[in-house]
This record gives sequence, structure tokens and C-alpha cells, in this order.
Amino acid sequence: MHPLRDLEIGVMFWGGRDPVETIREQKALGVRCGQIGIPGDMNLEGAAASWKAALAAEQFTLVTVFCAYKGEDYADIPTVQRTVGFIPEATRSEREARTLECSDFAAALGVNGIACHIGFVPEDETHRDYIAVREMVRRICDRAASHGQSFALETGQEPAKTLLHFFKDTGRANLRINFDPANMILYGTGDPIEALGVLAEHVVSVHAKDGDWPPKDVPGALGTERPLGRGSVGMERFVEKLKQVGYRGPMNIEREVPDHQERLRDIAMGVGLLERIRG
Ligand code: MG
Repeated sequence: MHPLRDLEIGVMFWGGRDPVETIREQKALGVRCGQIGIPGDMNLEGAAASWKAALAAEQFTLVTVFCAYKGEDYADIPTVQRTVGFIPEATRSEREARTLECSDFAAALGVNGIACHIGFVPEDETHRDYIAVREMVRRICDRAASHGQSFALETGQEPAKTLLHFFKDTGRANLRINFDPANMILYGTGDPIEALGVLAEHVVSVHAKDGDWPPKDVPGALGTERPLGRGSVGMERFVEKLKQVGYRGPMNIEREVPDHQERLRDIAMGVGLLERIRG
């Protein structure tokens, strides 16, 4: 596989369709690396061989396998709290097994990082959910470490300081962060550039995503995701901060709009924007 340059532009895309077709679609956007999201209902049994062959044939570098879970819903903040990640108790063991399966899938592809949204981490470290989630993250880190992988937590659902505390308390060397600047804004958790400074030493990968702050008059509402450069992140200052903190990995463009063609169009536009900013 070809070596990636510093701040290579990549894409966050989803599995579940034909591997070759999926990868060609990403390459047509002007990228040669990215992160694959694994939908909760994607059958991983026997899936690694065809993905591995497609990645090799297309000379496409996969940097992260992202796990998502059945039953997650990002409608608004209370719904996210109730349904996303490791916080909902009823689905915890099923999602742990699925995450371990994603780690094994990544290993079969030779990918050295997995990641997910673990959901809202409680601030109270004596809370039973906090303790259960911390132990679960430790077990996943240990499986990932057995494959030589990092396990990255996606940012956004809690302020940087809360995440950092959880992080230090969990105490696993391969626990890392996938930094998403737009999530900090969409969830109203703090200025993303400041947060990047706080979390920088743990950041293993980043999303390049944009968005606007939640409306002040609608309690529990999320902000609105926007095409890159059209939201409140400030892509120039984001890229400048990445350089300043010494981040050299890929910038994976993420666009979550439901319409497929609109998504592809916005990502292609984002590739052009990041190329101009990065230089
Ligand atoms: Mg993201």
C-alpha cells in the first residue's frame, strides 16, 4: 500500500454494500484512504476476505474500523443518551460482543485501529453506569491490544475535561481519541479548537466535519450538521490547530446527510476545500 502524506485527506464511509463498488465510490471523491463504519446489521461473518481483497486491488488504505450498533438513534440529545453506545444497560453485553467482533474483523484486514461512540459518559465516577462502561472499555482495549490495535473514543457527547478524566481513569495505553470538531458544536459541549488542545496527546484520528450550534430555545436539540466550510467549526483554524499540536494522520471527511448523492457531492467539495487549506 502506498504511504500516506501528513494530513492526508480521507473519508469516513459505511460498509454493508459490495466492497469493490464501495471503495471505488470513495476513490472517485479524490481520496485514497479512510475509515469504514460498520452498521449494526452488517454481517461480518466471512466478510473480511472480500474487503481485504478489494482494499488491496484498489490500493486503498483503511485506517480505522468504526463500530455502530443496532437500535442507535441520533434524533436529539435525550434520544442519544437513551440509545447510543455503551450507556444503555439492556444492550451493553450485545454491543460489547459486537465491538470485539469488529476488532477481529479489523485485525483480519490488517487495520490497527477501531473506534466507536461510547455514548454520554456520566461525570460521577461512582455511578454504576460509569463503572460498568469503564470496565467494558478496558476489556475492549485489551482485545484490541491483542491485535496491536488502538481503541478510539469519538468526541463530542461530553466536554473535553470529562472525557479526559474518564480516559485517565480507564488507564489503558491503547485507548485513544477520534476527534470530531463538529460534534463538540452539535452537542453544545464546547469550543472544538480549545478541546483539541486539551485532548491532543491522545488523538489518533480525526473527522473533518462541520456544523452549527443547537438552537438556544429548544431544550435537548442537537445542532445542525453542515457541508465542510459552511458551519461554525472554522476549517482553517481546525487545520492550523492540527498542525500546531503535531497531528500528522489523515483528516477523514464525514458527512451524515441521508441523501446519498448529496453526501457524495458535499464530500467531493470538502476534499477541494481541505486541499486548498492544507496546501
Ligand atoms: Mg464523527
